[in-house]
Amino acid sequence: MSYTKDNDKLYRYLFQNRAVRGEWVRLNDTFTETLNTHQYPKAVQNLLGEMVVATSLLTAIMKFEGTITVQIQGDGPLKLAVVNSNEQQQLRALARTQAEIADDATLSEMIGNGVLVISIMPNDGERYQGVIALDKPTIRECLEDYFIRSEQLQTHLIIRTGEYEGKAVAGGLLLQIMPDGTGTPEDFEHLMTLAETVKDEELFGLEAKELLFRLYHEEQVEVYPPQDTKFHCGCSRERSGNAILLLPMEEIEEMLAEKNGVIDMQCECCGTQYFFDKTAIMEFKQEADKLSQLGL
Ligand SMILES: [Zn+2]
Repeated sequence: MSYTKDNDKLYRYLFQNRAVRGEWVRLNDTFTETLNTHQYPKAVQNLLGEMVVATSLLTAIMKFEGTITVQIQGDGPLKLAVVNSNEQQQLRALARTQAEIADDATLSEMIGNGVLVISIMPNDGERYQGVIALDKPTIRECLEDYFIRSEQLQTHLIIRTGEYEGKAVAGGLLLQIMPDGTGTPEDFEHLMTLAETVKDEELFGLEAKELLFRLYHEEQVEVYPPQDTKFHCGCSRERSGNAILLLPMEEIEEMLAEKNGVIDMQCECCGTQYFFDKTAIMEFKQEADKLSQLGL
């Protein structure tokens, strides 16, 4: 297996004479570990790939410290698809289906009537939520439209999923006119046309700098140090325990009796199992009661 440099990396760059910024991302293990043991239909796997790429690019362009959730909700066979990320590019994803989905299903066939919800929860500062109608053939187009409408920023995305050397991979490019208003639509158009010439094998196989040189060798591109991307679930025994406590005590007792005294909780995202017996649950309850008495 050959090792390709720049796997699981995100690069940001700036076109110095054009007032346009860009990003490049390739998700290899980040993407496959996100799929974990889930056997998603092909179309759902591709959509999740597109969503993790989009989320990764958005996380980097929006520059905040905290978490971001990009979620699709619809009334079609794909009930839910959600990706979480943070400023460290730690990503996870999950999909839930409620009916069969063909390998070549389109976005609207999967989702029916649906929306894309972007929630940003900064560590400091106010939460932000944007709701985007999924009324275009791809999430890429829906997101571009969103940036124009909400930020008045011309944005172009290229998002691709596929296989490279026998392994699933997802990658993408982002171009965005600088918010300072000095970039021209002509410059943006020019860079966009060049970006569109990128081939899958280039996006999935080349190092970022080589790819940028192929696309933009006549441009002055300042490339910033890359960021690693990785799959990270963030689930914990504590969170699972607290989720059990959301049930009334009576129901918890019943579950314990049914399950020979041990409740098991499995994380949907990463498959980790957490086990709780009565003693463990009572300890969580004591802790929760203590915190609620303190008004936390
Ligand atoms: Zn987990």
